[in-house]
Amino acid sequence: MSDWRIPLSVLDYGAEETEAAQRVLARKWLSMGPEVLAFEKEFAAMQSAEYAFAVSSATAALHLAIHAIGIGPGDEVIQPAINFVAIANMTLYSGATPVFADICSLAEPTIDPRHVERLITPRTKAIVPMHYGGNLSRMSELLDLCNGRGIRLIEDSCHAIGARYHDPHGRAPHGRMAGSIGDIGTFSFYANKNLACGEGGMVVTNSADVAEKLQMLRSHGMTRSSWERHQGRAGSYDIAMPGFNYRLDELHAALGRSQLAKLLGGNAKRRELLARYRAGFDGDPNWIMVFADAIEHSSGHLMVALAPSQQARTLAVHALRESGIQSSMHYPSILEFSGFRGRFSQTLELTHEFASRAITLPMHAGLRFEEVDEIVRILRAVR
Ligand SMILES: *Cc1c(COP(=O)(O)O)cnc(C)c1O
Repeated sequence: MSDWRIPLSVLDYGAEETEAAQRVLARKWLSMGPEVLAFEKEFAAMQSAEYAFAVSSATAALHLAIHAIGIGPGDEVIQPAINFVAIANMTLYSGATPVFADICSLAEPTIDPRHVERLITPRTKAIVPMHYGGNLSRMSELLDLCNGRGIRLIEDSCHAIGARYHDPHGRAPHGRMAGSIGDIGTFSFYANKNLACGEGGMVVTNSADVAEKLQMLRSHGMTRSSWERHQGRAGSYDIAMPGFNYRLDELHAALGRSQLAKLLGGNAKRRELLARYRAGFDGDPNWIMVFADAIEHSSGHLMVALAPSQQARTLAVHALRESGIQSSMHYPSILEFSGFRGRFSQTLELTHEFASRAITLPMHAGLRFEEVDEIVRILRAVR
């Protein structure tokens, strides 16, 4: 559905999704019900997590996480500035202050635990790493910083659905799924994510206390859902706390279930394509492919390379466009948005440099090797 010859991403939708939607329509029950419950159960199983709650978006999931943990005015939330703006916005709306930490390196653009450590104050309530492109942040180090200090760890796992943490020294939490390592994990099923429903998300936790709050806050602070009442299990409800309406509906949950069934296979294809990109860039000193050494542990959400300079990036984007190839940019530094610039005086050197040189290239399970080769050829010709 685009005019690009090679678009950035293409939905992996087929007969399974059509069948899923028809199943819901035939059942004539649209609000949170059996599909949502099954989706949550299947998602929790994939995560090996105790609790998973389907929500209307990852932004909603992050907002719920903030409230479930009790983050509010006076609190500080340490997070990367190379990120989608959702957690920064939700932090500000809770009355807390986002504190931005730099990235580890240009090739590893996830939050740097050494910088995080220097930013910790008695007001630090949570650290929110984002697993950039589907590559996990340095979770062993971040857990060490949280433990004993009462700091909560929320994983923005929107890019990393289906990825498993690998610690180079085998230290805990080696082998755990992205999003099930910290206190709370959040996922997005937005249209361009590895698991796509249009809009939608999931919030997971292993804590019974946190789970109870997440579940109630998701639906007005209510103790019973209308599906349960429909089933005759509960005739009335109570409002235990003021909450939101962040529920997912049956159609999106049904689409999510068919997408979940394809997820790990799709991620494996994405890794093969990342390896093809890596082989293409091999031996070129001008271009840096991010997380090139960690492809086997990635969800393969994004393919990102750094141009030799900001000017080279502009030339590269232009050359790709001339050939009908779409590219993008993940992300501008949050500190440089007009709504943030005035409020934060920080400068983050690596973040700034990364944001000026990064370019996101086509990546989806249906991309072909020849297309990857063509893209790399065009980029390597740019100086
Ligand atoms: C997509 C995304 C979000 C927001 O997800 P929505 O479901 O659109 O709210 C948040 N953080 C990251 C890292 C994302 O990629």
